Amino acid sequence: MTQFAWRTEDQERLLRATLPAKVLDEMLEMCRAAGKRETGGILIGRHSEDRSTAVILEATGRPKDSLFSWATFSRGSHGLRALLESRWSENRFYLGEWHFHPGGSPNPSHQDILSMKKIASDPDYQCPLPLLLIVGGNPRRDYLVSCTVFIGVAEPARMIAESDNRRSSP
Ligand SMILES: [Zn+2]
Repeated sequence: MTQFAWRTEDQERLLRATLPAKVLDEMLEMCRAAGKRETGGILIGRHSEDRSTAVILEATGRPKDSLFSWATFSRGSHGLRALLESRWSENRFYLGEWHFHPGGSPNPSHQDILSMKKIASDPDYQCPLPLLLIVGGNPRRDYLVSCTVFIGVAEPARMIAESDNRRSSP
């Protein structure tokens, strides 16, 4: 199975994230459907046994209570608790967030960083190292995907791609 991978630059505390190509395709499809508006959802998966790798297995669509426009995305939470509860029995957990910056750069905005830091320190999420995946550019052609890991309230670590995280669209 083709997959994409990222890792932190800091060798002292090496963290990795992997994303199956199939899940990226689903995310790109949701971005195409959103057109010029932002969209996004949550990432679900599990950690490797040594906890160093976040293995993303699913990216959900936009909860229906989300607020979104061309430049903002505020993810709602409708249905997510029930979904996560059903995934726990399959050993799958909340790993972080993803969203789309239509036509923009995949860099996290100031607001993105603030909300992720909040999640990293929120006991409700039980996720001290949440990931943020951002799809930037054009999801039909020249898109870029960034991956950032939030280590508590410390400065986030932008991860570097271990693979060429681009695909030509079908
Ligand atoms: Zn953003």
